[in-house]
Amino acid sequence: MTAPILPGATIGVLGSGQLGRMFAIAARRLGYRVHTYSPDQDSPTGQVADHEVTASYDDLQAVAAFARDVSAVTFEFENVPSRTVEALGTGTIVRPSGQVLHTTQHRVREKQFLSGAGIPVAPFAVVQQSVDLHAGVERIGVPAIIKTASFGYDGKGQVRIPSADQAASAWARLGWQPAVLEGVVDFACEVSVVVARDATGAMVDYGAIENAHRDHILDVSVWPARVPEATAARAVSVARAACEALDVVGVLCVEMFVTRDGEVIVNELAPRPHNSGHLTIDAHVTCQFEQQVRTVCGLPLGSTAGHAPAAAMANLLGHEWAHGEPAWASALAMPNVKLHLYGKSEARPGRKMGHLTATAATPDEAEAMVREARRRLDPRL
Ligand code: AMP
Repeated sequence: MTAPILPGATIGVLGSGQLGRMFAIAARRLGYRVHTYSPDQDSPTGQVADHEVTASYDDLQAVAAFARDVSAVTFEFENVPSRTVEALGTGTIVRPSGQVLHTTQHRVREKQFLSGAGIPVAPFAVVQQSVDLHAGVERIGVPAIIKTASFGYDGKGQVRIPSADQAASAWARLGWQPAVLEGVVDFACEVSVVVARDATGAMVDYGAIENAHRDHILDVSVWPARVPEATAARAVSVARAACEALDVVGVLCVEMFVTRDGEVIVNELAPRPHNSGHLTIDAHVTCQFEQQVRTVCGLPLGSTAGHAPAAAMANLLGHEWAHGEPAWASALAMPNVKLHLYGKSEARPGRKMGHLTATAATPDEAEAMVREARRRLDPRL
């Protein structure tokens, strides 16, 4: 075990979006300095970091110089080229490790890892050539979904295959890239579990969080998930098993489907704080971003006890600005509603601009409150 990196030290974060911003806020609250690295200027992370480096991920000299100025490096997204991770240098503390990124940034490697570890996943086939696609459709059946192996998130790089004769055109739409073909899971709901794991192997989690998507993008999360206790316990044990098998030192979010008979199937891993865990900022003693700071720095994990019995989070996407500035005061007039904005100046449709959180006595109440708060931002939407 290496000695902890104590407050006053500087932590580097690769990437500069809202996840890095909320990480930087947590780190600075604890007295750390934060440097961020990305190709962007005036980024959500850069606005709250001590120092913003603007350079390409392919500028390996700039990456190495960035690493020299910090005590440890973490990530706010997993699609960092492996050459960039290598350029950080062998002497740099990097959490989670390059190995974890290597597995989770590629759907084929991730699926093979999960099934090899005995963790339940949807039936899948690796597609490199047309014969793989046809054999896969034959074995898995339809409807199915084809997803690119690399650089997919929020439903990007995936196409549904309703019938066997549409398989070839679906893959063509992905440019015949290496892909994973998956059976469509007829799920009752989707849940996620955010786990934090330290270098000794100790773990904490927040239980199951229930997620509703719109157009493949997370829309609303509710904690605790409204599923039977046994299902929530199963989701937690699957997530912890994945975290341990991957040997994550950091935060891992495991997204899962809950089938109609209560089975839990893993859809995706994210080796970092996740959108569904944003409600932990307002609803829990130690939020997911502070857990990331603690695990990166080798400090003890924090309590995941709730401040309230339930909470819900609603994403604010670019379309909330369709008629101009949303009516913030109207939402903020509601008790127990909190607003988080990410400092993005351009509200493009589908772009994650911020989120609202509500805490309440029950999950139903929290969800109703956060939806009402969002509705008040622009009742015409
Ligand atoms: P992903 O980009 O893989 O996280 O997928 C985004 C969303 O698409 C998921 O949260 C699900 O709502 C849906 N989805 C993805 N894969 C499947 C599947 N195999 N069966 C059913 N729905 C899926």
